[in-house]
Amino acid sequence: MKYYVLFGPPGAGKGTQATAMVNNYNLHHISTGALLRKEIAAGSELGLQAKALIEKGCLVPDEVVEGMIENEFKTVTGVDGFLLDGFPRTLPQAEALDRILAKAGTEVTATVSIMIPDAMIMERIKGRALKEGRADDASEDIINTRITTYHNQTEPLIAFYEKAGKYHEIDGVGSIDEVGSRIFDVMNKF
Ligand code: ADP
Repeated sequence: MKYYVLFGPPGAGKGTQATAMVNNYNLHHISTGALLRKEIAAGSELGLQAKALIEKGCLVPDEVVEGMIENEFKTVTGVDGFLLDGFPRTLPQAEALDRILAKAGTEVTATVSIMIPDAMIMERIKGRALKEGRADDASEDIINTRITTYHNQTEPLIAFYEKAGKYHEIDGVGSIDEVGSRIFDVMNKF
């Protein structure tokens, strides 16, 4: 089983690229953001708590997303691996992921990081807001908070995965196909 982490700032195109990645390599796509939005739509207790945080541009508690990941690993079969999109987003989450995989006698295969400049994050999220209508895409203030949250809480993971020899960064500026083929060049090595 392969365990890929798809990394990058909000709006880098992770969700867009994930579709081709899961199809090409028979992976199960786990987007913690999408799982949380499903809880919100279902009106669950967890969804209610998550909604308030997400709509402020903050992260939900580590334990919540860690539980979701463990549950997906346990219940999904018939794939060659998993593509984690939007998880881990904090150092404690990355450490939890290592522990969960170590228990199963395995480890993260590789981290594929899609990088775009901050100025482009705002532009892309605003474009997506028009199509998807996500509440956390709706205002510049919320987007700016998410960019700050990314720099403060998520960016330290770059050094974490570099140290583990698992960090592979690709340039996220270009067409969907151009960026996709850069990603496949990395994934074909594993
Ligand atoms: P984007 O890639 O545009 O940031 P996501 O769909 O990945 O969008 O995430 C949307 C929101 O869901 C995040 O801003 C955060 O509030 C919450 N979220 C998603 N994944 C996590 C996570 N691993 N840890 C904490 N919060 C998360």
